[in-house]
Amino acid sequence: MASICEFDLPGLRHWLAEQGAAPTHARGLLRHFYAGAPVVDWSTSVMPHRIQPDLAQRSILETKIRQRHLSTDGTIKLLIDLKDGLSIESVLMPGYRPDRAACCLSSQVGCAMGCDFCASTRDGLLRNLSVTEIVEQFLLLRHEARLLDRRLTSLVFMGMGEPMHNLANVIAAIGRIADPDLGGLGWRQVTVSTVGIVPGIDALAEADLNVHLAVSLHAADDLTRQRIVPTGHKYPVIEIVAAARRFQEKTGRVPTIEWCLLAGINDTSAQADKLADLLDGFRAHVNLIPWNNIGVGTSGAVYARPVPERLAEFADRLRARGVVVHIRETRGDDVSAACGQLVQLRK
Ligand code: SAH
Repeated sequence: MASICEFDLPGLRHWLAEQGAAPTHARGLLRHFYAGAPVVDWSTSVMPHRIQPDLAQRSILETKIRQRHLSTDGTIKLLIDLKDGLSIESVLMPGYRPDRAACCLSSQVGCAMGCDFCASTRDGLLRNLSVTEIVEQFLLLRHEARLLDRRLTSLVFMGMGEPMHNLANVIAAIGRIADPDLGGLGWRQVTVSTVGIVPGIDALAEADLNVHLAVSLHAADDLTRQRIVPTGHKYPVIEIVAAARRFQEKTGRVPTIEWCLLAGINDTSAQADKLADLLDGFRAHVNLIPWNNIGVGTSGAVYARPVPERLAEFADRLRARGVVVHIRETRGDDVSAACGQLVQLRK
């Protein structure tokens, strides 16, 4: 039996009609579900009696929290069991404001991209997440935020997986999560992060959703990039940056360039200069992520975080060229909840 999260508004209208119920109930029913989920009390909702048991059954979440890991910095990582026995991880990050939180969602079980410095890809890709599984991550994390008296106000697809390889489900899930009548998060609060799948970036721009784009570039030339990101063989740096520019032209949204800083590999002054050249005349923001320890890379390469002085010098060099640079604060690394540390746990 499909979960209610599989239904968009036209879908639920259609289903209600099939049950012999008035399709006009659809919006109210979805609103009621999304306002409360994962705790939904249907007795307080106006709905045809005939469909109540069925809808109640469909609103029980398919996924379950197996473990909650709490970091000393307040970050919460959830290990979530899927109904086929696989698992994923998702993260809640309480914000700088005492009443807010952000979350990081997975789009796949595992990942096929093979980035050498990332743990999420080590066991490869097991499967895509369904619309329901993506929406439920949001509902579970929103509930965690509510327990802390915080409002979940932003969402990034920076957990496990490559969202562009599960784009139809990611877009459908964003539809449920962002819609003011359903999850109510708002489109602009959502960021889709990609390793640089050019057709995916174009498809996301075409979808015209008002969401943000982040591109995990990590290197300014193809040789350096291919050492650490295997998909670099398929999509050259120049084409990825061109796609990010097209995204900006089409949507008006400023893309973020993600850069996981690896000592001695992509933290050099030469890389900073090349990146500034690439971004010349392009108002993308650069997000520097000091590498989080995941042990030795799949290739056997040993990575390290640059020392703080190198990080500062890299950022300053870009800023001197007029690039807007943010340095991502490491969060949740004591419970392996930081970027690149999320994994699937086999039972
Ligand atoms: N596949 C998508 C979504 C994953 S996002 C993408 O590549 O964008 C996860 C982000 O964390 C990416 O920018 C990724 O490059 C970065 N990351 C991966 N491993 C990391 C690590 N060990 N330390 C810091 N950042 C890492």
